[in-house]
Amino acid sequence: MLEKLHLSGSASRSELTTTTGLNRSTIAALVGELGELGLVEERGTTPAAGPGRPSPMVHTRPQGAVALAIEFIVDSLGVATVGLGGHVYNLVRIARPTDRFSPAETAQDVVKLAGPLLDALPPDHRLVGVGAAVAGTTRRADGVVTFAPNLGWRDVPLAALLEEELCLPVPVSVANEADLGALAEHRRARPGTDHLLYISGEVGIGCGAIIDGRPLLGAAGYAGEAGHTLIKPDGRPCRCGARGCWETEAGEAALLRLAGVPSGAGGIETVAERAAAGDEPALRALDEVGRWLGLGIGNLVNLFNPDVVVLGGVYERLFARLEPSMTEAVRARALASSGEMAAIVRSGLGSDAALLGAAELALSEVLADPAAATGAP
Ligand SMILES: [Zn+2]
Repeated sequence: MLEKLHLSGSASRSELTTTTGLNRSTIAALVGELGELGLVEERGTTPAAGPGRPSPMVHTRPQGAVALAIEFIVDSLGVATVGLGGHVYNLVRIARPTDRFSPAETAQDVVKLAGPLLDALPPDHRLVGVGAAVAGTTRRADGVVTFAPNLGWRDVPLAALLEEELCLPVPVSVANEADLGALAEHRRARPGTDHLLYISGEVGIGCGAIIDGRPLLGAAGYAGEAGHTLIKPDGRPCRCGARGCWETEAGEAALLRLAGVPSGAGGIETVAERAAAGDEPALRALDEVGRWLGLGIGNLVNLFNPDVVVLGGVYERLFARLEPSMTEAVRARALASSGEMAAIVRSGLGSDAALLGAAELALSEVLADPAAATGAP
């Protein structure tokens, strides 16, 4: 019931009865219990319509469970405070200084960004967890980033490092940024879409999957490394050590190289500006990268039969420019049966999908066991 309220923000008692299949007295008791935990409150009633009595409205109390969300990607660092119901209190993002790549220095930057955000929360808030999204393979069980080739990290105990630097009395969970982008799209932007792929284009390509309404994680949390699947056997060397990976042909670096734009901050915007001005190399680069992107998506569509493929990160920003050649390549690669039913769309959460997903990860415990996660007896 709390999850239902978290996704929709509010619902009447009679709607909760219908959607959960529980009877009215059970719903009343649960609302009372969650109210005592400070997680929900009743305010107002549904408009009186027809012969039935107006039903009390139940709302989430965002301050009742707040998550601190962090996102580590190659070119930026994002931090947000998010309450129950998806209420974003504050969100800041800074361009990532390229000379501060070490995990310890990055954790110190997080502390500096998070401090003012935590101070600005309502006085009666309850912090329940910290969630971190990382562009790399991450072991869910202990929050170790095993390999983040584009950050240059290997076997970094990120959860432990953040616990030590932040000194907050709550658990720290760490997961792959594309997995969390998928989680956020599923929970916040497209509830009810139970077969969803999220493709994040940053320096690398990440992929997160929701299958049958659940995140696909693999044995340790490493599933979905589509960026390092083979797409061109004689292709360029990849930072993972292999050759011809999807991200070497369809990632940001390939786009900049083909467009003749130096890599670094603002490169993608430069490509977009040049394309808008009709610059031939920029237009050709977008066409070529769109084609490689579409070929990879076609493979994924054949594997997973998704309802929707959501494009995030760089692909969200360049969606309109990439779409023609991408769509053509998907059509050429995917089997007609699954290709026809997969809608390919831009992220509904813009560049913040993974950051909001990190908040969702940190709020998961409260949704699963409200009493235990809020420390109730
Ligand atoms: Zn690779």
